[in-house]
Amino acid sequence: MGSRITQTIAFRLTLWFSGIFTICAGVTFILFYYLAVQTFENQMDQELIDRTSEFTAIIRRNGLAGARELAVVQAQTAGEKVIFFRLMYPSGEVFATSHMSHWKGVKVQPSALSRLMEGHKGVFETIQMPATGEKARILYGFVAPNVILQSGIAMNTHARFLLAFKKVFAGAMAFIIIFSAVAGWLLVRKAFSGVERITATARRITGSNLAARVKQTGSRDELDQLAETFNSMLDRIENLVKSNREISDNIAHDLKSPITQIRGHAELALVQEDNLEDYRAMAANTIEASDRLLDMINTMLLISKAQAQEDDFSFEPVDLSQMVEEACDLFEPLIEDKGHRFIKEIEPSIETIADIRMLQRAFSNLLDNAVKYTPYGGMIRVTLCTAGDLIEIRVEDSGMGISPENYENIFKRFFREESSRTSPGTGLGLSLSRAIARKHSGDIFVENAPEQGSIFTLTLPNRNADVI
Ligand code: ADP
Repeated sequence: MGSRITQTIAFRLTLWFSGIFTICAGVTFILFYYLAVQTFENQMDQELIDRTSEFTAIIRRNGLAGARELAVVQAQTAGEKVIFFRLMYPSGEVFATSHMSHWKGVKVQPSALSRLMEGHKGVFETIQMPATGEKARILYGFVAPNVILQSGIAMNTHARFLLAFKKVFAGAMAFIIIFSAVAGWLLVRKAFSGVERITATARRITGSNLAARVKQTGSRDELDQLAETFNSMLDRIENLVKSNREISDNIAHDLKSPITQIRGHAELALVQEDNLEDYRAMAANTIEASDRLLDMINTMLLISKAQAQEDDFSFEPVDLSQMVEEACDLFEPLIEDKGHRFIKEIEPSIETIADIRMLQRAFSNLLDNAVKYTPYGGMIRVTLCTAGDLIEIRVEDSGMGISPENYENIFKRFFREESSRTSPGTGLGLSLSRAIARKHSGDIFVENAPEQGSIFTLTLPNRNADVI
């Protein structure tokens, strides 16, 4: 993990953070440096201009003798290593200077003189003295119609300041780089500690341990919300795994009894004396048990298909009223056999787009349950009607009813209420009916009838509602 630290977002963010910080500080320092250099040069230039003006004034008052004296006095006052003056004619012939032993190497530049002659008011230049390597700022200017003053000022005080500035700059930059890298790293690591918690939890989760959850800080920041989403995702996965486990347990349990029966018949056939009638009965029982098994497997496959995207449903215009009538006709003899009162309230000519085979199957399941779970001599009512943008198919019975806490459970695969375990069934019918209804953009729900029994309502979208 350590060797891959350079690949982490934390490392890259730290690089960005300290890079940007360093660049900003660097740019600020450089700007400040140039501003300081500029200010110093301006100051020196202004000083040279002021002193030149003093020479102009003194020549006007006291003539060249006054200027000679001023050159010596001024240089002495300011320091002979700091400033010098050279008075000359336009030809370059020097006739007076301040004390020049420190400034020996400074020449008179003919190019500067000719620029003055061309009409420039003053000519500035920066030179480096050959002997000491120090820098000096020089100004050439007319102080009388025929007299030029070359004045120069040492730049070493400023150079010392700028050198000190550069040292501070280098020190400050080193500090800024180290500080921004360390501070950036700590900040980013703190910000990412939530991600690390999630990663650690994800690592702890294995197929058998889905109980681990990320600890939430309660700060409601992005990472806390990510932790919450991650935890609720884990909740859903845990439930899914649990329900899958339950389903496979149920499948194993429900498949066991028909297979045990088939095995029992086969065993009996082995020990049986030669009696054709018995063999036939055993074969018939085996076929019946196999059919139940096949029916269960087919229903499970159909539910999976209806719940998945791919399916073999074929939708076409259907006369629902006719479909419900025909299904009722099929069930009528059975209902009569059980002594039930059968009430049909079927609105005529209700049409929709549906897979008629599938819808018949869903409706028949409801009707079959009503007959199955209503004791002898009860009542069964089938209603088909439109209600706004819905079509409702209701199957009401006066049977045992359903405990309200199982209103949703009965739609789960293999769920059967305790009280109905004595009746034949697989617990798959309602699950399939709901999957079919949902495939038609509808649904099924249940409620208990006001007095006794239950009411199952299958809803479908009323496509004609838009037209009306
Ligand atoms: P099955 O009828 O094969 O058990 P279903 O999925 O059709 O499976 O029904 C699931 C359970 O719902 C039934 O076992 C029964 O407990 C309950 N149930 C369904 N319909 C009714 C009804 N009309 N009256 C009472 N209980 C019902």
